Amino acid sequence: MTQELNQMDAQKYLQAMGLGPVWHLRNPETLAATPEVAPEMPSPLVDVAEEKNPPAVDIAQQEPVRDVTPVQVKQLLTEDMSWEVLQETVAACQACRLCQGRQKTVFGVGDQKARWLFVGEGPGYNENIQGQPFVGTAGQLLDNMLNALGLKRGEATYIANVVKCRPTDDLGKDRPPSADEIAACLPYLQRQIALIQPEVIVALGKTAAIALLGLSPETPVGQLREKVHHYQSLPLIVTYHPAYLLRKPADKAKAWADLCLARSSLGDSAA
Ligand code: SF4
Repeated sequence: MTQELNQMDAQKYLQAMGLGPVWHLRNPETLAATPEVAPEMPSPLVDVAEEKNPPAVDIAQQEPVRDVTPVQVKQLLTEDMSWEVLQETVAACQACRLCQGRQKTVFGVGDQKARWLFVGEGPGYNENIQGQPFVGTAGQLLDNMLNALGLKRGEATYIANVVKCRPTDDLGKDRPPSADEIAACLPYLQRQIALIQPEVIVALGKTAAIALLGLSPETPVGQLREKVHHYQSLPLIVTYHPAYLLRKPADKAKAWADLCLARSSLGDSAA
């Protein structure tokens, strides 16, 4: 009965992603043996990932670090910096120019011991106000993508961005973060990954992919899809950013194929 409900839910969310018509759930064992799903016939994953119990952390001796430079960010993020102190350090950070226009830093949201880590580019207008990643229509689409996988925001998943403060252009509109802004902020994400230790990372868009893989900014997303990369030893899959999918819904089927590849790579550490 539960599986039937999960299947119905997954179909509903796939339809919400624009991936109609309704598909039928295949045998999960068959799914597990299939590394990729053809984009035109996506199949929902109904296995809900297990949550892990976060380890106890002693933060009694730790204090947030304020007024740091980009170089200091890297030096300060030691292996014993706890999640709580890291979060407070980001909230007080002034290591790059993006601190000047922010209302709130956007640290991330979800399970601190998530199996799935989704990484986007940076906060936009609404995220800057709310302090949460992926709100608004792009966030709704990401939630539908998670639900189609049998996942839920905050349960076995973590959502973060490459930069924690909103980048804007001269007109106050959203823009991608620059290379120096990414370099300044990336150590925070790297520390988050070290603490979370996810089983798979999904890079949502080019900015996240090139930042985590250390690639040239000229690298097209199309060249990075359909293969399993590794961030350190962790499998990393590249797919389209939800905001792009809203502009180009025809590519949602490709995004679903990417998510299926990510599912098949879960826990497939290169270590
Ligand atoms: S974007 Fe990152 S490095 Fe720059 S001020 Fe915000 S938290 Fe600090």
